[in-house]
Amino acid sequence: MPEPKSPGAHKRLPEWLRRPPSRLNTRPSELHGLKKTLRNRKLATVCESARCPNIGECFTTPTATFMILGEICTRSCAFCNVEGGVSTPVDPNEPQNIAQTALEMGLKHVVITSVTRDDLLDGGASQFALTIQAIRDTIPRIGIELLVPDFHGDFSALETVIEGRPDILNHNLETVPSLYSVVRPQGDYERSLTLLRRACEAGLPAKSGIMVGLGETAEEVRALMADLAAVGCSMMTIGQYLRPTRENLPVVDYIEPELFEKYAEYGRSAGIKEVYSGPMVRSSYNAGELWKNFTE
Ligand code: SF4
Repeated sequence: MPEPKSPGAHKRLPEWLRRPPSRLNTRPSELHGLKKTLRNRKLATVCESARCPNIGECFTTPTATFMILGEICTRSCAFCNVEGGVSTPVDPNEPQNIAQTALEMGLKHVVITSVTRDDLLDGGASQFALTIQAIRDTIPRIGIELLVPDFHGDFSALETVIEGRPDILNHNLETVPSLYSVVRPQGDYERSLTLLRRACEAGLPAKSGIMVGLGETAEEVRALMADLAAVGCSMMTIGQYLRPTRENLPVVDYIEPELFEKYAEYGRSAGIKEVYSGPMVRSSYNAGELWKNFTE
C-alpha cells in the first residue's frame, strides 16, 4: 500500500537547509583519520549513528559526541536512526579509550551520550561516571557534557551520574508532549522534566533540546520552553527535524529561520540563559561554544 502523502514528505528541501558542498567534505583525510581512530578503539559517535548533517564540519573542527554503551538501543524512537534490538556487553575499556581519543583530538569540550539501555540495572549510569573520571584524570581542564537517557526514571542511577559532577547535564525532551506517543513512545515528558529539575537542584547546569517540524504548534513549543525555565534549565537547543531514512517519521514542516529566532527570543525571555536555535542546530552542535557563552 503506497505510503500516505504527509504534508512535508514530498516538499523540496528549502534553500536554508541546503549546504554548499564545500562545507560538507573539507579535508576528507582528517575525516578519515578520525574515523579510523574511532574504529580502532571500538568507539561510536552519535554523529555517525544519527547521520548528523554537521559531521563534516564537526569532525574537522575537531569535535565529536561519543556514544557509549554500544550502538544498539533498547528503544525505538520514530525519529531516530540508531539501530534498536538486543544490546551488546558493556566495554570496560571504553572510558579510557574515549579519554585517550579526546586527548589526541585536542578537545576542549567533550560530549558523551549513549543509547538507552533499559536492559542494564542502572541504565548505564556507572559507565557514564567511569567515563567522566577517565577523562578528568587524562585532561583535567576539559569541559564535560553528558547527554543522558532518562534512566527509566531511576533516580539512584541519576544520582550516580550527578556525583560524577559533569559540567553540563543534558537531557533532550525531543518534542512537545502531544507528540510523544508518535515520536518517542517509550519516553515520558514529566519524567524527563523531573530528571532535569533534579540535576538543577543538585547544582548542575542543565541543558535540553528539541526538534521542530514534526507537527508541533508554536504555542506548544513556547509552553515547553516555559516548563524548561520552570525546572531551572539554563541552556537549550532547537533544530529542524530531518528524516534520516524512509523508516523514520516524515517531516511535517520545514520551519522558517525567522521562527527559530522568535523561539530563541521567547526562550530567553522565559529565563533560559542560552538558547541555540536554528535549522541545522543539534543538541551537541557547537556545544563548546554554548558552554563558553554560558560561563562568561
Ligand atoms: S532512546 Fe535515543 S538512541 Fe534510542 S531510539 Fe530513542 S533517540 Fe535513538
